Amino acid sequence: MTKKRSVLFAGDPHGNFAPLISAVKQCQPEAVVLLGDYDLKKPLQDYIQSIIGKTKIWWIPGNHDFDPPEHYHNLFSSQLSGQSLHLKVINIAGLRIAGLGGIFLGRVWYPPYSPKWQSKKHFIQVSSEFTSPSALSLKYKSAIWPEEWAQLKKLKADILVTHEAPKSHKHGFIAIDQLAEAMGVKQVFHGHLHEHYRTEIRQGIEVVGVRDAQIVDLFGEEV
Ligand SMILES: [Zn+2]
Repeated sequence: MTKKRSVLFAGDPHGNFAPLISAVKQCQPEAVVLLGDYDLKKPLQDYIQSIIGKTKIWWIPGNHDFDPPEHYHNLFSSQLSGQSLHLKVINIAGLRIAGLGGIFLGRVWYPPYSPKWQSKKHFIQVSSEFTSPSALSLKYKSAIWPEEWAQLKKLKADILVTHEAPKSHKHGFIAIDQLAEAMGVKQVFHGHLHEHYRTEIRQGIEVVGVRDAQIVDLFGEEV
C-alpha cells in the first residue's frame, strides 16, 4: 500500500519555497508535485537546490508562469524543464499521476462555452494570414487547448493534478470534472484558488484544493 506521505503536493508557491523544502526534509517523500504559479525571478533549481536529488520533483505550469517572460524562461528553460507533468501520465511512487497545467482562457476556450479554437495548429494557420511570425505568444501558451485536453482524456490515471479547479469550487470548470471522470482517477489535486478544502464530485472522485505555499499529502492533509 502506498504511504500517505510518499507523494506530497505543493500549492502555488508564488516565490515561497520554504514550506516545500521543510516538508521534504521532514517527510522524505518519494516525489513532490508542484501545482503551478511559481513567480520565478531566477531559475527554479536556484530556489530548491537543497532538495534536488533527495526526492523526485514534478511540476505543472500555472497562469503566472507565462507572464512576464522571465517567469516562463526560469521554469521552462530550468534544469527541471524535463520534469513537467503537463499533458502526461507518469508512474510516480506506484501511482499513475496525470497533469494538466495552464488555465481556461476566453480567447481559446472557456467551458462550458464552445471553444473559439480547437487546436494550436489551426490558430497559427489562421492568424499567420494576418501577422508574422506565426509563433504562439506566451498568453496563448498558457491556455488549456481543447485538442490537448481531449488527448489527455483518452489516458487512464489514478490521480489528476491541475492548476484550474473542477466544479467542486465556485470558480471551477466542468471540463476538469469530465476529464477526471473519463480518465478514471480517484483524486484530483488543484492549486490556483488559494483554498484548502476536500470534497467529492461525480463517481466519488475526491477533490483536494491546495492553498498557496501549502503542502499536502496523499490524504489531502496539510503537512
Ligand atoms: Zn493561478
